[in-house]
Amino acid sequence: MTDTESDQGTPAPRFFRARAVFDGVSGKLIDGVGLLVENGRVTAVGPENELVGAAAASAGVEIVDLGDAFVVPGFVDSHTHVTIRPGEGNQHWQLVQPAVWQTIRGVENLRRMLRSGVTTARTMTEEHDIDFEFRDAIARGEVVGPRLLVSGPGMSPPGGHGSAAGGVAGVGPLREGVQKRAERGANHIKIFTTGGVSSAGTSLGESNYSAEEIAAIVDEAAKYGLTVGAHAHGGPGVDLPVENGIHTIEHGALLTDQNVARMDAAGTWLVLTHTILFHPEGIEQGDAAEPSIIAKVMEARASVEAGIHRILESRIPVALGTDSMHGYLGFEAEWLVAHGWTPSEALLALTRNGGRLLEDETTGTLASGSRADFVVLGADPLADIRAVYDVVSVYRDGRLVVAPDGTLTAIAVQP
Ligand SMILES: [Zn+2]
Repeated sequence: MTDTESDQGTPAPRFFRARAVFDGVSGKLIDGVGLLVENGRVTAVGPENELVGAAAASAGVEIVDLGDAFVVPGFVDSHTHVTIRPGEGNQHWQLVQPAVWQTIRGVENLRRMLRSGVTTARTMTEEHDIDFEFRDAIARGEVVGPRLLVSGPGMSPPGGHGSAAGGVAGVGPLREGVQKRAERGANHIKIFTTGGVSSAGTSLGESNYSAEEIAAIVDEAAKYGLTVGAHAHGGPGVDLPVENGIHTIEHGALLTDQNVARMDAAGTWLVLTHTILFHPEGIEQGDAAEPSIIAKVMEARASVEAGIHRILESRIPVALGTDSMHGYLGFEAEWLVAHGWTPSEALLALTRNGGRLLEDETTGTLASGSRADFVVLGADPLADIRAVYDVVSVYRDGRLVVAPDGTLTAIAVQP
C-alpha cells in the first residue's frame, strides 16, 4: 500500500521503505534502511532484505513505500501553549479570555503543530484546564494533534508574568498549588521565576520566588514524580531555581557566564525559544504598538546574539520550543544552525533531546522500542536544515496522521 491510503487500526507489522533514516541516536542519516513497526512501536531499523526479506508474505509484513524520502523522528516541541497566538499580541489577555474562545483557537493551533511534524508537545501554562482536556481528547482520537504533556496553569506570584488568572506565593500555598495540579493529572509543573519579554513592567533578571519557595515547589513535585520547569531569563531568577533542583530553565535570553556555569554544573536543561523572539511574526508583530515590550525584544535579541556561543561551548543539554509559534518549530533548528550548531546537532535538539528532557528515551528516537512517531521529509536535512520544513507526511504511533495531500487524521492511542 502507499502512505496515502487509510491505515487506521492496521494490526499487521509494516515495513516503511525510504531513502534514508535519521534515527536520533547515531546523529547520522543511514542510507538504505527502513523501519519495521508493530503495535505503534519501532521493532527494528535496518535494510529491507534483512528485516523483511522472503518472510514478508508468510509473516504478513506490509510494505509501505515512502519513496525517495528521508525519515526522521517526530519533532518534540518542548515548550508551547495550545491556545496562544503571539502574532496577535497581548498574550496574557489571550489567556484570560473565555474557555470556549480559547478552545476553538486551540483546535486550529494543534492542527498547525501536527502539520509541521510535531508529534509530541510539552505545554507550559494554560487556563481553564484546556490543556488537560485537549491531551485526553487527542489520546481518545477525538481531536487532531500531537501527543500532549501538560502543566496546567503555571505558578507565578500575584501580578507577576504568567499569573494570568491569579498568582500564588508562599511555601504553603505553593505546595498546595503543586498538589492541586498533580491531582488533576499534570505531567510536569511550570513556574515563572522572572518576568517576561512579552509583558510590560516585569524584570527579566530578578527572582520572583525565594530559594525557600522554589525548594518547596521542587520537593512537593518530586513526591508526585513530577519535574519542574522555570520560565527564567537571567540573573538570580536563573541561579535560584538551578541551585534548588529545577529540571529546566525555559527561554534564558539573558544568561550570564555565571548562570551558564551553574546550569552546566547542575546538569540543568535549557529550552530555547527563539522563534517567538526573532521571527517577524512573533512578539515583534503582536506587540508592535507597545514600545516597552519592543524595547525588551531588542534587549533580549542582542543578549542572545552576544551570548549564544556560551551555550554552544557548554555542555548544557538543549531542547527547543516554539512558545506558541504553532507550525514554526523548524525555525528553531534553522536558527541554531545559523549560530554554529551542525544540522545533525540541531535535528537531535528537535527530536532526541525533547524525549530526554521528558525522561523518555522512546520519544524522539527511531530505534527498537521507540514510539513509531516519525516525519517523512522530501529533502536531506543534514545537507540543508531547511528540509525540516519540507514535511511530506507524519506518522504517530505508526499511523498516518498527516497525509501527503494534507489530510489530517485523529487517532486513538492506548495509554
Ligand atoms: Zn511559554
